[in-house]
Amino acid sequence: MELLLAICIWIVVIIISLWLAKELFIATFSCIKTEKINERLFAVKTNFMNFYIYKAEEATICFDAGYREKAIIKEMEKISIKPEEVTHVFLTHSDIDHVGGLNLFKNALIFLSVDEEQMITGKTRRFPFTKNKPIKEYQLLKDGEEVKLGETVVKGIATPGHTPGSMSYLVNEEILFTGDTVSIKGGKIGPFYRMINMDTKMQKESIKKIAEIKTIKMVCTAHSGITEEICYSEKK
Ligand SMILES: [Zn+2]
Repeated sequence: MELLLAICIWIVVIIISLWLAKELFIATFSCIKTEKINERLFAVKTNFMNFYIYKAEEATICFDAGYREKAIIKEMEKISIKPEEVTHVFLTHSDIDHVGGLNLFKNALIFLSVDEEQMITGKTRRFPFTKNKPIKEYQLLKDGEEVKLGETVVKGIATPGHTPGSMSYLVNEEILFTGDTVSIKGGKIGPFYRMINMDTKMQKESIKKIAEIKTIKMVCTAHSGITEEICYSEKK
């Protein structure tokens, strides 16, 4: 009987591992290569995620900070932007693949959602056995708060679900950076991977909130590229 139970547990563990491996495989290969998207916007691929750089007149702005430092340096060389040039980093959340490169951006002000602070102080665990790492210096943003950088306005929009303080950023009402709030499937926006979301039901509400913003022309995600189709799909 005990043997049977052990076999069943192993089968469940193997199935979950295979499923997770498949999800991670898809996430890894759905991000886009480092490239110039338009005159102002650049995508940077570090390992299995994208972060984005928006070159405004008076600021060089990162949306997330990438994963591994070595990869970030190599990839940023391709678009001729130096990490020291970055003046602002807006973090969509505090998972390691989004904050791993923060130390490279020595001259930048770091912004984070007020609801994400609990993740870096250790108050809330990311997974049952892990916590996100602390971040040295940062400024907190509330839902709807705007940061004006010359002609460019970055608005924080609380989009909880992946983590409690996940925040998307809307630039000049048109370009939205979502981090892991959104996955692009068949060109449409939908929820991220359930297994690594802290609350997918809440995330679906956040995506509906995004879909209501009619001025958005482009959605940039961390693991599934960019879409100009802002249609919400229930399917993951
Ligand atoms: Zn991520």
